[in-house]
Amino acid sequence: MITMQKKFGIITIFPDMVKSYLGCSILKRAIEKGIISVEVHNLRDYATDKHKTVDDYPYGGGPGMVMKPEPFYRAVEDLWPARESRRIIMLSPRGRVFSQDVAREIVEDMRVPVFLCGRYEAIDERVRDHLVDDEISIGDYVLTGGELPALVIIDAVSRLIPDVLGDDQSAEDESFSKGLLDYPHFTRPEEFRGMHVPRVLLSGNHEEIRKWRKQQSLKSTLRTRPELLKIYTLSDEEKILIEQIKEEQL
Ligand code: SAM
Repeated sequence: MITMQKKFGIITIFPDMVKSYLGCSILKRAIEKGIISVEVHNLRDYATDKHKTVDDYPYGGGPGMVMKPEPFYRAVEDLWPARESRRIIMLSPRGRVFSQDVAREIVEDMRVPVFLCGRYEAIDERVRDHLVDDEISIGDYVLTGGELPALVIIDAVSRLIPDVLGDDQSAEDESFSKGLLDYPHFTRPEEFRGMHVPRVLLSGNHEEIRKWRKQQSLKSTLRTRPELLKIYTLSDEEKILIEQIKEEQL
């Protein structure tokens, strides 16, 4: 875990959309405590004409509008002039796919991640060619804009910063943090509509609980994301547990 104050930047035509999410819950508290800071800028402030135009018709024809390159260049060069201190991230379905590993990579990078949020059909390719350091997609589907992807990434990255969650352990035991999915969680009541909390969790036996959770974690991974196990190195204990799971399933 790293101790730091992490800064982020967002360039969007909908600043209120992102500010609304940042003004709630855990991220709001992290901002108030000064653990993270997010500079949100309106792309229209960097438009070059009096109508604040940020889009235009596509060369070559076709549907939709394309976001003009000039406002993006002007915004970035004005707000983060030092190239080495910024990591310009373009949100795009064509980018590499975001994951917990990419979140870790961003949290450890000393440069300020600055998110360029696209809208309409796309951002002019020349922004990608010479301004952008990284192009990220949050999954194989198409959204109406880059605002949600920027928030998804800021949220996932912020949770890795000590003090954001209040308990350093919380982010460490979760899905993907060690290559497996999370184990199931239960709280009171002990019995709900005839469904009981697994006995082992009431036993107070920490070793048994640890082992049960590990087995459940392996079980969910095997059931829904078996491909994760192909790149995961099983410990001797995990090999035995996984054999037991497979035997149970026969
Ligand atoms: N024409 C583009 C394509 O087919 O790849 C989709 C453009 S989309 C309607 C508008 C903007 O939303 C994109 O420029 C990007 O910033 C954002 N966006 C949409 N889906 C995304 C995703 N899966 N990951 C990251 N950004 C996305």
